[in-house]
Amino acid sequence: EQRELGHLRSKPSRTLDGVDITLLANAESREDVAHAHTLGAHGLGLYRTEFLFLQRNGLPDEEEQFHHYRDAVLGMSGRPVTIRILDLGADKADRSGLVLGREENPALGLRGIRLLLAHPKVADTQLRALLRASGYGPVRILVPMVSTREEILALKRRMTRQVAALREEGHVLAEHVPVGAMIEVPAAAIALPTFIDQVDFLSVGTNDLVQYLLAADRNNEAVGELYSPLHPAVLQLLAQVIGTARAHATPLSVCGEIAGDPRMTPLLLALGLTEFSLHPATLLEVRRAIRDCNHGELRARAGKLLQARDRRGIERWLAGTCPP
Ligand code: PEP
Ligand code: MG
Repeated sequence: EQRELGHLRSKPSRTLDGVDITLLANAESREDVAHAHTLGAHGLGLYRTEFLFLQRNGLPDEEEQFHHYRDAVLGMSGRPVTIRILDLGADKADRSGLVLGREENPALGLRGIRLLLAHPKVADTQLRALLRASGYGPVRILVPMVSTREEILALKRRMTRQVAALREEGHVLAEHVPVGAMIEVPAAAIALPTFIDQVDFLSVGTNDLVQYLLAADRNNEAVGELYSPLHPAVLQLLAQVIGTARAHATPLSVCGEIAGDPRMTPLLLALGLTEFSLHPATLLEVRRAIRDCNHGELRARAGKLLQARDRRGIERWLAGTCPP
């Protein structure tokens, strides 16, 4: 199967009717970055940084982080590299000392941007390392678990201060480092027009968005049936978010697991998505699915998709589209 897909390494991610789709990679290790590069990913859409904090005792310092981020940037040789700031919470086994104590509802607790704003020194250290890496190639900073406009503003204020401090110290940074928000909390998806003016790009984290929208724990087998993107509420919210981003000409990708599932490709194209971020392991399969799709036909069938009343209706719609 892998060999069969091999010829797609050098092929464009273009639909039958000539629409080019951007395929970015999700990565969390050096190996992933190298893999993404060889498969011709257009850049990194989600570089998770938790591993730097989980594989050790204590916190990684600025220098250690800087080397990791710079290596990711150099590894993608000039293609944009989207690095997500720390998304830790009481749900992850942590030896950094950052996550204090257990929480009864870790998914609803102090995680992502909330945890970082509660630990400004940790946020500043990571921002400094990222900003320094921006001197070596295009870096974009992605903020996890955003639920309010104020969180974006607070993070950007810290960043502005660090930009000035680093320049003062003689570091060479990019002219502009774009800041984007993860859309994974329903409030952020619904209220997107209230803060879209503050972000340079968006990335939809469907893994969490589905969990929060359907009130179904992503790790709880007992509600595994319910935890699915094939719910009308998920599709309607995705369509709304994609439409808002398009109306504001703000680049948007989906970086949750559905972006890497070739069975979901026609559905995402129908909803108007043009940027996917996915693990390199399934990049070529998704590229093949894209190349089998007719974009115009799918867009024309989006209305029908959004009228589906249940999972079976959505599955019937999918069964009637270009086969992956
Ligand atoms: C998501 O929530 O969809 C996502 C990409 O982030 P993570 O899986 O790391 O929470
Ligand atoms: Mg998430």
